Amino acid sequence: MKPLSLINYHAIGFDLDHTLAKYRVVNQIKLTYNSLIDFLVQEKGYDSDIRTDISDSKDFICKGLFVDTAKGNVIKLSHSGKILRGSHGTRALSQRELVSTYGPTLLWEHYEHAREAVRPSTGNKTFAFWENYFDVPALYVCAQVVDYWDKKNGGPLPSYRDILFKDILAGMECNYRFQAFSENSGYFFPKLKQHPEQFYQACSLGVKQWLRDLKMAGKCVFLTTSSHIDFASLTASSVLGPDWKSYFDIIVTNARKPGFFKDNKPFLSLDGILEKETVTYDKLEEHSVYSSGNHGDLEKFITKVTGEERPQVVYFGDSLCSDAFPVKTLTDWDLILVLEEMEAEGFHPHDNTHHYWQQDERDRKIVRPVNLAVDEEEEEYLLSRQWGSFFYHPEADPLHNRHMNTFWGELVTKYSDVAIPSIEYIAGLPLAHEFTRFDHSEDGSTDGFSPAKPKPLLPLVLP
Ligand SMILES: [Mg+2]
Repeated sequence: MKPLSLINYHAIGFDLDHTLAKYRVVNQIKLTYNSLIDFLVQEKGYDSDIRTDISDSKDFICKGLFVDTAKGNVIKLSHSGKILRGSHGTRALSQRELVSTYGPTLLWEHYEHAREAVRPSTGNKTFAFWENYFDVPALYVCAQVVDYWDKKNGGPLPSYRDILFKDILAGMECNYRFQAFSENSGYFFPKLKQHPEQFYQACSLGVKQWLRDLKMAGKCVFLTTSSHIDFASLTASSVLGPDWKSYFDIIVTNARKPGFFKDNKPFLSLDGILEKETVTYDKLEEHSVYSSGNHGDLEKFITKVTGEERPQVVYFGDSLCSDAFPVKTLTDWDLILVLEEMEAEGFHPHDNTHHYWQQDERDRKIVRPVNLAVDEEEEEYLLSRQWGSFFYHPEADPLHNRHMNTFWGELVTKYSDVAIPSIEYIAGLPLAHEFTRFDHSEDGSTDGFSPAKPKPLLPLVLP
């Protein structure tokens, strides 16, 4: 399999949130948690003692869990749909309790449905899941809401479905609806706007230089974000500075990913924050900002600016559902996944002594001044003893080959070419650096992690 190297692409695309824009995750988790609790207390009449200090519960915070909304359980799934761990509300369930609830095979009846939900535009009410840090604290709030009603009722309810959807989803809608940014309404945006420096981590000089180097090397550099222009401007200017637009050949806001890759919505011009009129692909202009749009017309724009009839495109994203899955199933593009869990679960990118690193990784040269510092408090939030590794569970590995075997781990192999811990890491490397890819023909392949595999995926016996 040919290694992946940025030098070989005609266009390099970026998602914004949690890809180019690194958040200060601890503050972001606290804000998203408190903004949802504010909604429940102020607009849904919950007792104020439902609010706890989220830093006391950071071990419960974990990306990629599911909420079984009928039973009020939070569960973690294997790649084959087996329930690995669970809790009712916030109370961890024993293996015996899991078996008595879900049967001896522990196969979750909604597993096939859960896989469907990774595909675009499937909604149902039997479960909810969250795979990004805007939403992950909502999962803890779901668990708290189950505890709250169990206590009020003096025992479990027949179903929590309506409560969870009416209260939690309504709270997320109130806080994250795009109009809330300009209205300064809800409980999230007003606080973010007041002190953006508390929530964003500015890109290093090395990342800015890397973006310029990509352009100097003749690449079309583009940004596609589902945020609307006002929120995207705050985010991008916080991480790249007031001249953030100058780094890109074209900027697409309100991209509604994964719809951007699937639907054929036209590009719209913007007048301030207002969408104005339809723009056909031949009228798309360099160094402009648009709303909506679709990947096919964007590709035609790339052809126009690069002169390549069939341009090779690589896209950077952090979301398996909105970036990786649609890119790898609906386009010919390659996909580099930004996965903060890699760092949290066990290596530090500045640790060149790691003997599991590939030879070329050990020999790699950092050519730009990037920021590879690790925030230990942040890692405590990303790691969870209660739920275990994002990538691997020994209980679900009868072959002991230490391939990825969690629900999300398997999707990392399937729908990405390379996974990296941060943009800072790749921005430090020469453009011609070669990355080993995941082998898509092998379930749970771990080859595409760079600079190294997370520790849980390493063999137990060291050679
Ligand atoms: Mg993102």
